[in-house]
Amino acid sequence: PNDRMVSGERSAADVETHLRPQCLDDFTGQQQVRENLKIFITAARARGEALDHTLFYGPPGLGKTTLAQIVAKELGVGFRATSGPVIAKAGDLAALLTNLEPRDVLFIDEIHRLNPAIEEVLYPAMEDFQLDLIIGEGPAARSVRIDLPPFTLVGATTRSGLLTTPLRERFGIPCRMQFYTPDELQSIVVRGARVLGFAITADGAAEVARRARGTPRVAGRLLRRVRDFAAVAGKSPVDRAVADAALTRLEVDQIGLDAMDRRYLSCIADNYGGGPVGVDTLAAALSESRDTLEEVIEPYLLQQGLIQRTPRGRMLSAAGFKHIGLNPPREVLV
Ligand code: ADP
Repeated sequence: PNDRMVSGERSAADVETHLRPQCLDDFTGQQQVRENLKIFITAARARGEALDHTLFYGPPGLGKTTLAQIVAKELGVGFRATSGPVIAKAGDLAALLTNLEPRDVLFIDEIHRLNPAIEEVLYPAMEDFQLDLIIGEGPAARSVRIDLPPFTLVGATTRSGLLTTPLRERFGIPCRMQFYTPDELQSIVVRGARVLGFAITADGAAEVARRARGTPRVAGRLLRRVRDFAAVAGKSPVDRAVADAALTRLEVDQIGLDAMDRRYLSCIADNYGGGPVGVDTLAAALSESRDTLEEVIEPYLLQQGLIQRTPRGRMLSAAGFKHIGLNPPREVLV
């Protein structure tokens, strides 16, 4: 799924660093999250204390890593980043934690993928800034306690439900990330074009924004391809017609769905009469992993009201049928 144009997941081809906003005021959207962070950061700074541990959760590409970096900048402290699957041993975590300066931010992406043994080590570190380590093996093993500098753990995950309860409860500041509105994405696109150094009309930016699945990472990716298309076609500034032609060529439709999304919708319509169908059955039929469906494909389809999640499985809504050019069966009312 990483090579899909419209996937929110990070791919190797994404060159993102210079598109990243550097401070809270430059960060577009996520108004509630931003306002809360501003208050908590100001208070922590005034007290000279570490900010409470903060959890960002929501679909990929919405700005969790970016916000984590901004939090460190706004606090005026150092920033270290790692990710759940990378921390293989308790010693790896210990090395990271003992190297922090007081009040630093440690960012752990995909924190739901931490190995359970390491999670256990993390609990006292988060709660009491203490590390309990077992040194040595067998009869010579002994446990040592190490005091850590106070620090802020910033975790990121796609859904907070993926975290174990004890881990989730140790985050004082949970922040839920939302899909961006077309207007917010439009200003992100305008800013992105400026950073990349090419001209785009308001209409052109709106067209890219509308088709970016509410996701800044997707907007950035579409913008680069639109720029290439316009350069080769010798078109400047990029207007709505150029953007539309480029995105249509990339098979990104009017609301930002790609072939994979449409295959998902058609599968429910054609093979399961519109549902309900269980997510595991769908995953098998589409040869995708259940995780990919739940974390990457479905959130936007749900948000657009094209599908519904019911206790008996996924169902296509009337809008879902219409989007793939079918008439909804009479019993589908919404
Ligand atoms: P996540 O960690 O949620 O997967 P990232 O923080 O890596 O997402 O953001 C993905 C891309 O989108 C980056 O290029 C980032 O600069 C851009 N981006 C995210 N949020 C915003 C925003 N609010 N304004 C501008 N660009 C953003």
